[in-house]
Amino acid sequence: MNINFDELAAFYERLEATPGRLEMIDILAELFGKIDTSEIEMVCYLTLGKLGDGPSELTLGLAEKLVIQTLAEQYGMSESEVEKLLAEHGDLGVVAEQTISKKTQSTLFDFFEDDESSPSSFSITSLWSLLLKLAHTTGTGSTGTKQSLLTNLLIDSSPLESRYIVRIVLGKLRLGVREMTLLEALALHYTGDRKNKSLLERAYNFISDIGKVASILVNDGFEAIQKITPSPGTPIRCMAAQRADSAFEILNKLGGKAALEIKYDGLRIQAHITPSGVILYSRNHEDLTPQFPDIVSSLQKASQVSNAIVEGEILAYDFENDTFLPFQNLMRRRRKTEIDEMMKKFPAKIYLFDALLIDDLSVVDLSLPDRRKLLENSFHENESLAFSELLYISSEDELNDFFMQAVKDGCEGIMAKSITPSSIYEAGVRGWNWIKYKADYVGSLTDTFDLTIIGAYSGKGKRTGTIGALLCASYNEDEDVYQSFCKLGTGFSDEDLKELTDILEPLKVKEKPNNVMSGIDPDNWVRPKIVVEVAAAEISKSPTHMTAWNGTSGLALRFPRFTGRIRTDKSADQSTSLSEILLMYEAKRRAV
Ligand code: ATP
Repeated sequence: MNINFDELAAFYERLEATPGRLEMIDILAELFGKIDTSEIEMVCYLTLGKLGDGPSELTLGLAEKLVIQTLAEQYGMSESEVEKLLAEHGDLGVVAEQTISKKTQSTLFDFFEDDESSPSSFSITSLWSLLLKLAHTTGTGSTGTKQSLLTNLLIDSSPLESRYIVRIVLGKLRLGVREMTLLEALALHYTGDRKNKSLLERAYNFISDIGKVASILVNDGFEAIQKITPSPGTPIRCMAAQRADSAFEILNKLGGKAALEIKYDGLRIQAHITPSGVILYSRNHEDLTPQFPDIVSSLQKASQVSNAIVEGEILAYDFENDTFLPFQNLMRRRRKTEIDEMMKKFPAKIYLFDALLIDDLSVVDLSLPDRRKLLENSFHENESLAFSELLYISSEDELNDFFMQAVKDGCEGIMAKSITPSSIYEAGVRGWNWIKYKADYVGSLTDTFDLTIIGAYSGKGKRTGTIGALLCASYNEDEDVYQSFCKLGTGFSDEDLKELTDILEPLKVKEKPNNVMSGIDPDNWVRPKIVVEVAAAEISKSPTHMTAWNGTSGLALRFPRFTGRIRTDKSADQSTSLSEILLMYEAKRRAV
């Protein structure tokens, strides 16, 4: 049974009006009961407001201006009239919904007139094809094509459909449905038990594509889901670390013993070694293979197995003096042109620290010491490939010595890892099997945060012509909103300010985005997309910032300082989360 988009839109309206996660799961399960198996992937992606996942993730993010122009043209209004309505409703989707009352005859189907299989109604498949077309329309001179595609979509839409189409094309669907909610609903509808979500989540962590997980579940059954294991060529969701700020706390969490490693300050890589070549994925599953031919060939030389998935950190390296170079040098390697020249100028080295698959066998469920042994037996070190430095310890003194030495050597800190039998590789999880323990840029202990830019202040005096400061936010993962956490005005070089000004220009929006909460207004709002690293002395209560807002106060960073690093390897929803901040705040309060 196929459903039309008007039915899907009605589900979206119900989801949007439902604050409770459990009710949302019931509504989603009901939706799954209505769709055809061929629609499951599309429905999953659309419900998350995107057109794909994992390495093939595709999100539409048409410029607000273009949508305003299209609506104005289509409904015989001036752009300023549409803008006025936008200011009133704060949401172009609602503006479209309220404006579109008079629908003209379908042009959507004209669009598919050559396609015999095209349905005779506004099906999910038709919508999907048009959205894909829109997403692939890029480059100079594409504005007109985008506008006519959007017009085609809107002419045939009911007011409710228009609300969601506009939000989808703007990349702002935001129904409040997250991946984990969707997985639980899939478990409930297709296996009859929401508890099976954990097995679906495990599969999702191994294939990083929620549409594929849903499609396997629906077409091949739950047994097939349970058989999913890591596979070379398919990126796995990365394991992440918790943080702690004393040797006592670390050993307490890890059961009195640990493996200590240097926390290398570079770029995390998940390398897939296959018989047909090596693929390098960033932690975001971006394919970085073309940028690092030197690392690809050192992995090829080092590997003693036919296939493998291993993880490590790439650093810019000075081979003459045998030392690491600052992170900024490595960032010069991220460009897509002049690769050979950049490779010569900024040579790199990879430090491997984990193995996830060796010779077709998943090793994620082995303990860390066992995985490490396999890693060392399956690879040979060479000039630009080494294993991370590692020390097994069982006392606070040993931990403190290793940490102090690492800081003295200029490292940003250490990683303390569990070595118990349950020290498995937890894909997609920020758990206590890995703990990071960092020193700050001046030597005393503090934390760094990865925050999303939500606003920009115009520069004054010396900074005239560029931005002067940024409004930054943490990420509230339950509500899918960015909550202001600090105003960031120090730590910038002139080049940083110029670069950030250029990066933020196309992201500026007139109104505060719907998924932003802030008690203060910057000169310009910015769409949440760019993540910057911020160091700070402490977290304190704030009457204006909205992180952990309780009605009267929130939390904010004191003395925030830009570390010089734009986290191009992180998406906004990978910013430091509310739960991490609450953990840090509570830990500090307990320590006082
Ligand atoms: P941070 O900004 O502190 O690096 P993060 O959010 O990027 O944090 P976390 O998972 O919290 O990532 O910390 C682990 C990160 O540290 C890894 O993503 C990896 O890039 C880096 N790293 C450096 N050395 C190691 C190591 N020996 N083992 C594991 N991760 C390491």
